[in-house]
Amino acid sequence: MPVEEVFVALGGNIGDSQTIVTQAMDALGNISQTSLRASSSLYRSEAVGDIPQDDYTNAVALLGSSLEPTALLLELQAIEHAYYRRREQEERWAPRTLDLDIILFGDRSFNDSHLIIPHPEFAQRLFVLEPMFEIGGDRFVPGYGSLRYLIDNAPAISLEKLS
Ligand code: ATP
Ligand code: CA
Ligand code: CA
Repeated sequence: MPVEEVFVALGGNIGDSQTIVTQAMDALGNISQTSLRASSSLYRSEAVGDIPQDDYTNAVALLGSSLEPTALLLELQAIEHAYYRRREQEERWAPRTLDLDIILFGDRSFNDSHLIIPHPEFAQRLFVLEPMFEIGGDRFVPGYGSLRYLIDNAPAISLEKLS
């Protein structure tokens, strides 16, 4: 298997999210057949959706991986569970200790009942686009356009880069 560039988004808003996201970043580098090539700064974003909840800590990792996308997803879910991810509501966008999403996997598109690549919402999420741009620079995403274009057109949110 060739090594492909994979962008993974990290987020959490329960507990000490800055520590959890930082530790999860290290855990990504320990996945088999996978290396951590770059990690973004931590960002703070205001939660979106109808459920009132604390701000999120977000970051993005750039991995080099020769795993298949579905195998990588299983590894990410194992890391989520290691951090006792718990949902207080069985709803999307409910608070969670750690959320790991595959955003891009090389130039692949993939779509089955468990995994959609590119992540279907990434272009709407500045808390994903900004850290991607920080570590990967501007790049063209097939079917979407350049990161610069996507950042300029994404819905405005409150997003703060942490030192
Ligand atoms: P969102 O996907 O809008 O960010 P979420 O992260 O809160 O919402 P989850 O409850 O974490 O959603 O995940 C629901 C399911 O989404 C997972 O069980 C997984 O099978 C599926 N999924 C589909 N595409 C992806 C992807 N690119 N990365 C991670 N999970 C994905
Ligand atoms: Ca998510
Ligand atoms: Ca998720």
